[in-house]
Amino acid sequence: MKRLLLLGSLLAFSTPASALVRVVTSTADFASIAQAVGGKRVEAVSLAKGYQDPHFVEPKPSFILRLSRADLLIVAGLDLETGYLPPLLDQSRNGKIRPGSPGYLDASVGCEILERPSGVVTRAMGDVHPFGNPHYWLDPRNGRVIARAIAAKLSSLDPAGAAEYRTNLAAFEARLAEGEKRWDALLAPFAGTEVVTYHNSWPTFLKRFRLKAAGYVEPKPGVPPSPAHTIQLINLMRTRRVQLILMEPYFDERGPQSIAQKAGARVLTFIPSVGGVPAAKDYVALFDYDVKLLADALKARPR
Ligand SMILES: [Zn+2]
Repeated sequence: MKRLLLLGSLLAFSTPASALVRVVTSTADFASIAQAVGGKRVEAVSLAKGYQDPHFVEPKPSFILRLSRADLLIVAGLDLETGYLPPLLDQSRNGKIRPGSPGYLDASVGCEILERPSGVVTRAMGDVHPFGNPHYWLDPRNGRVIARAIAAKLSSLDPAGAAEYRTNLAAFEARLAEGEKRWDALLAPFAGTEVVTYHNSWPTFLKRFRLKAAGYVEPKPGVPPSPAHTIQLINLMRTRRVQLILMEPYFDERGPQSIAQKAGARVLTFIPSVGGVPAAKDYVALFDYDVKLLADALKARPR
């Protein structure tokens, strides 16, 4: 009897599985922040893996099941998920997490969003950034805004956990602030340096660390490279002595490699989301990984 009790308590201890709040997010970055803020009271799972294109996630039946059981859905908004999420949300038949419901959080609210269009929004030329750049989580300042919004949302859905969420949020913010000191120190020597990126995924990252995008391998976000654009880009990289092409892990490397070779540059596979490589295991580790990769590559060449 005693052994059974002990076994029972061990099991209860090792599987705190009955999380109070089930969170589903589009990208792994939001899941990482939600887990950090939610701690043991929350189970946060992302639909997209960190090495997948966040615009074009292949829907799976398991997504519908996850959504049907979710208490909170966190999305990037700005139409990032428009290609796959709306039908899944319909099929999940979960009214709690529909846009406008208490269990829905658009993480872009309150964040600094770059490239917001000023005129009439159209999808001419297949632009997948119609409402501004949706890759805004790649600025740790926005990560802080997102964490605060998640803490407020969790506290309203689960008021009994409010104190715990506050404590977890403070710990997350402290860790992020420490990280920012490290990242600033590593990248400060390269302020003003221009790079090329494949997709326009890193404007907030580059702005935060005082770097610049000289151009993109894609002529427009979501539009595949054309020969004419590629020639222009090679010329621009030669003229401006651009050393690096930052490429998301989900594109074919051959195009960028050929451009880099002709322009005397090199390609870095840069990670846009948590889990894109095993080392980028959470939101802070993602920046540690990318910043070190970039700083090492810039150091390796004369400016
Ligand atoms: Zn994009």
